[in-house]
Amino acid sequence: MHSPPKEMVHCNLCGAVIPDGLGNCDAIFHTVLEREYRDPAFGEAHLFSVDAYALQHSEKHSPRSNAFHLMRLCWLVEHGGSASIRQAQRQGHVRHDSREESYRRFPFLEPPVSRGDLTVSSLLPALTPEDHQRLAQAWGRSVWTAWSGHQTWAREQARRWYIRTEKVDAKAEKGTG
Ligand SMILES: [Zn+2]
Repeated sequence: MHSPPKEMVHCNLCGAVIPDGLGNCDAIFHTVLEREYRDPAFGEAHLFSVDAYALQHSEKHSPRSNAFHLMRLCWLVEHGGSASIRQAQRQGHVRHDSREESYRRFPFLEPPVSRGDLTVSSLLPALTPEDHQRLAQAWGRSVWTAWSGHQTWAREQARRWYIRTEKVDAKAEKGTG
């Protein structure tokens, strides 16, 4: 007698193959976040992880979040925006209130059928921060490509929000420095 072959478990949202013992994508994502919070060098890729994960698991968060995450992913992928965890923490305090009102009016962007060739599990083999950053970027780019149907909207918004904000920041730093 031998035991039947173990079935591979896939995430029904992003398609990731779930390694034995990890249970589901949330658990993998949690592992990734732990690395990013523990070591700032890993944390340099933080926003790629957050946005890619959110866009591949649209059903787990509020509908309008897709728009926000896609806009920010556009900024990271096409404008070389900073994905650093430190940047994210700083931005959490700046202009949060004034922006929130506009975010509320964001449309619901329907997720694509195929959500990208890479998933959160592609980050698991990373041993060094460099590996982690490279894999997170590749993951983010694959998700950006998968969402091509909404790229026009995202580019327009990224221009509005991020490029304008950068100019204001630069001005403010000069003025108060
Ligand atoms: Zn998943």
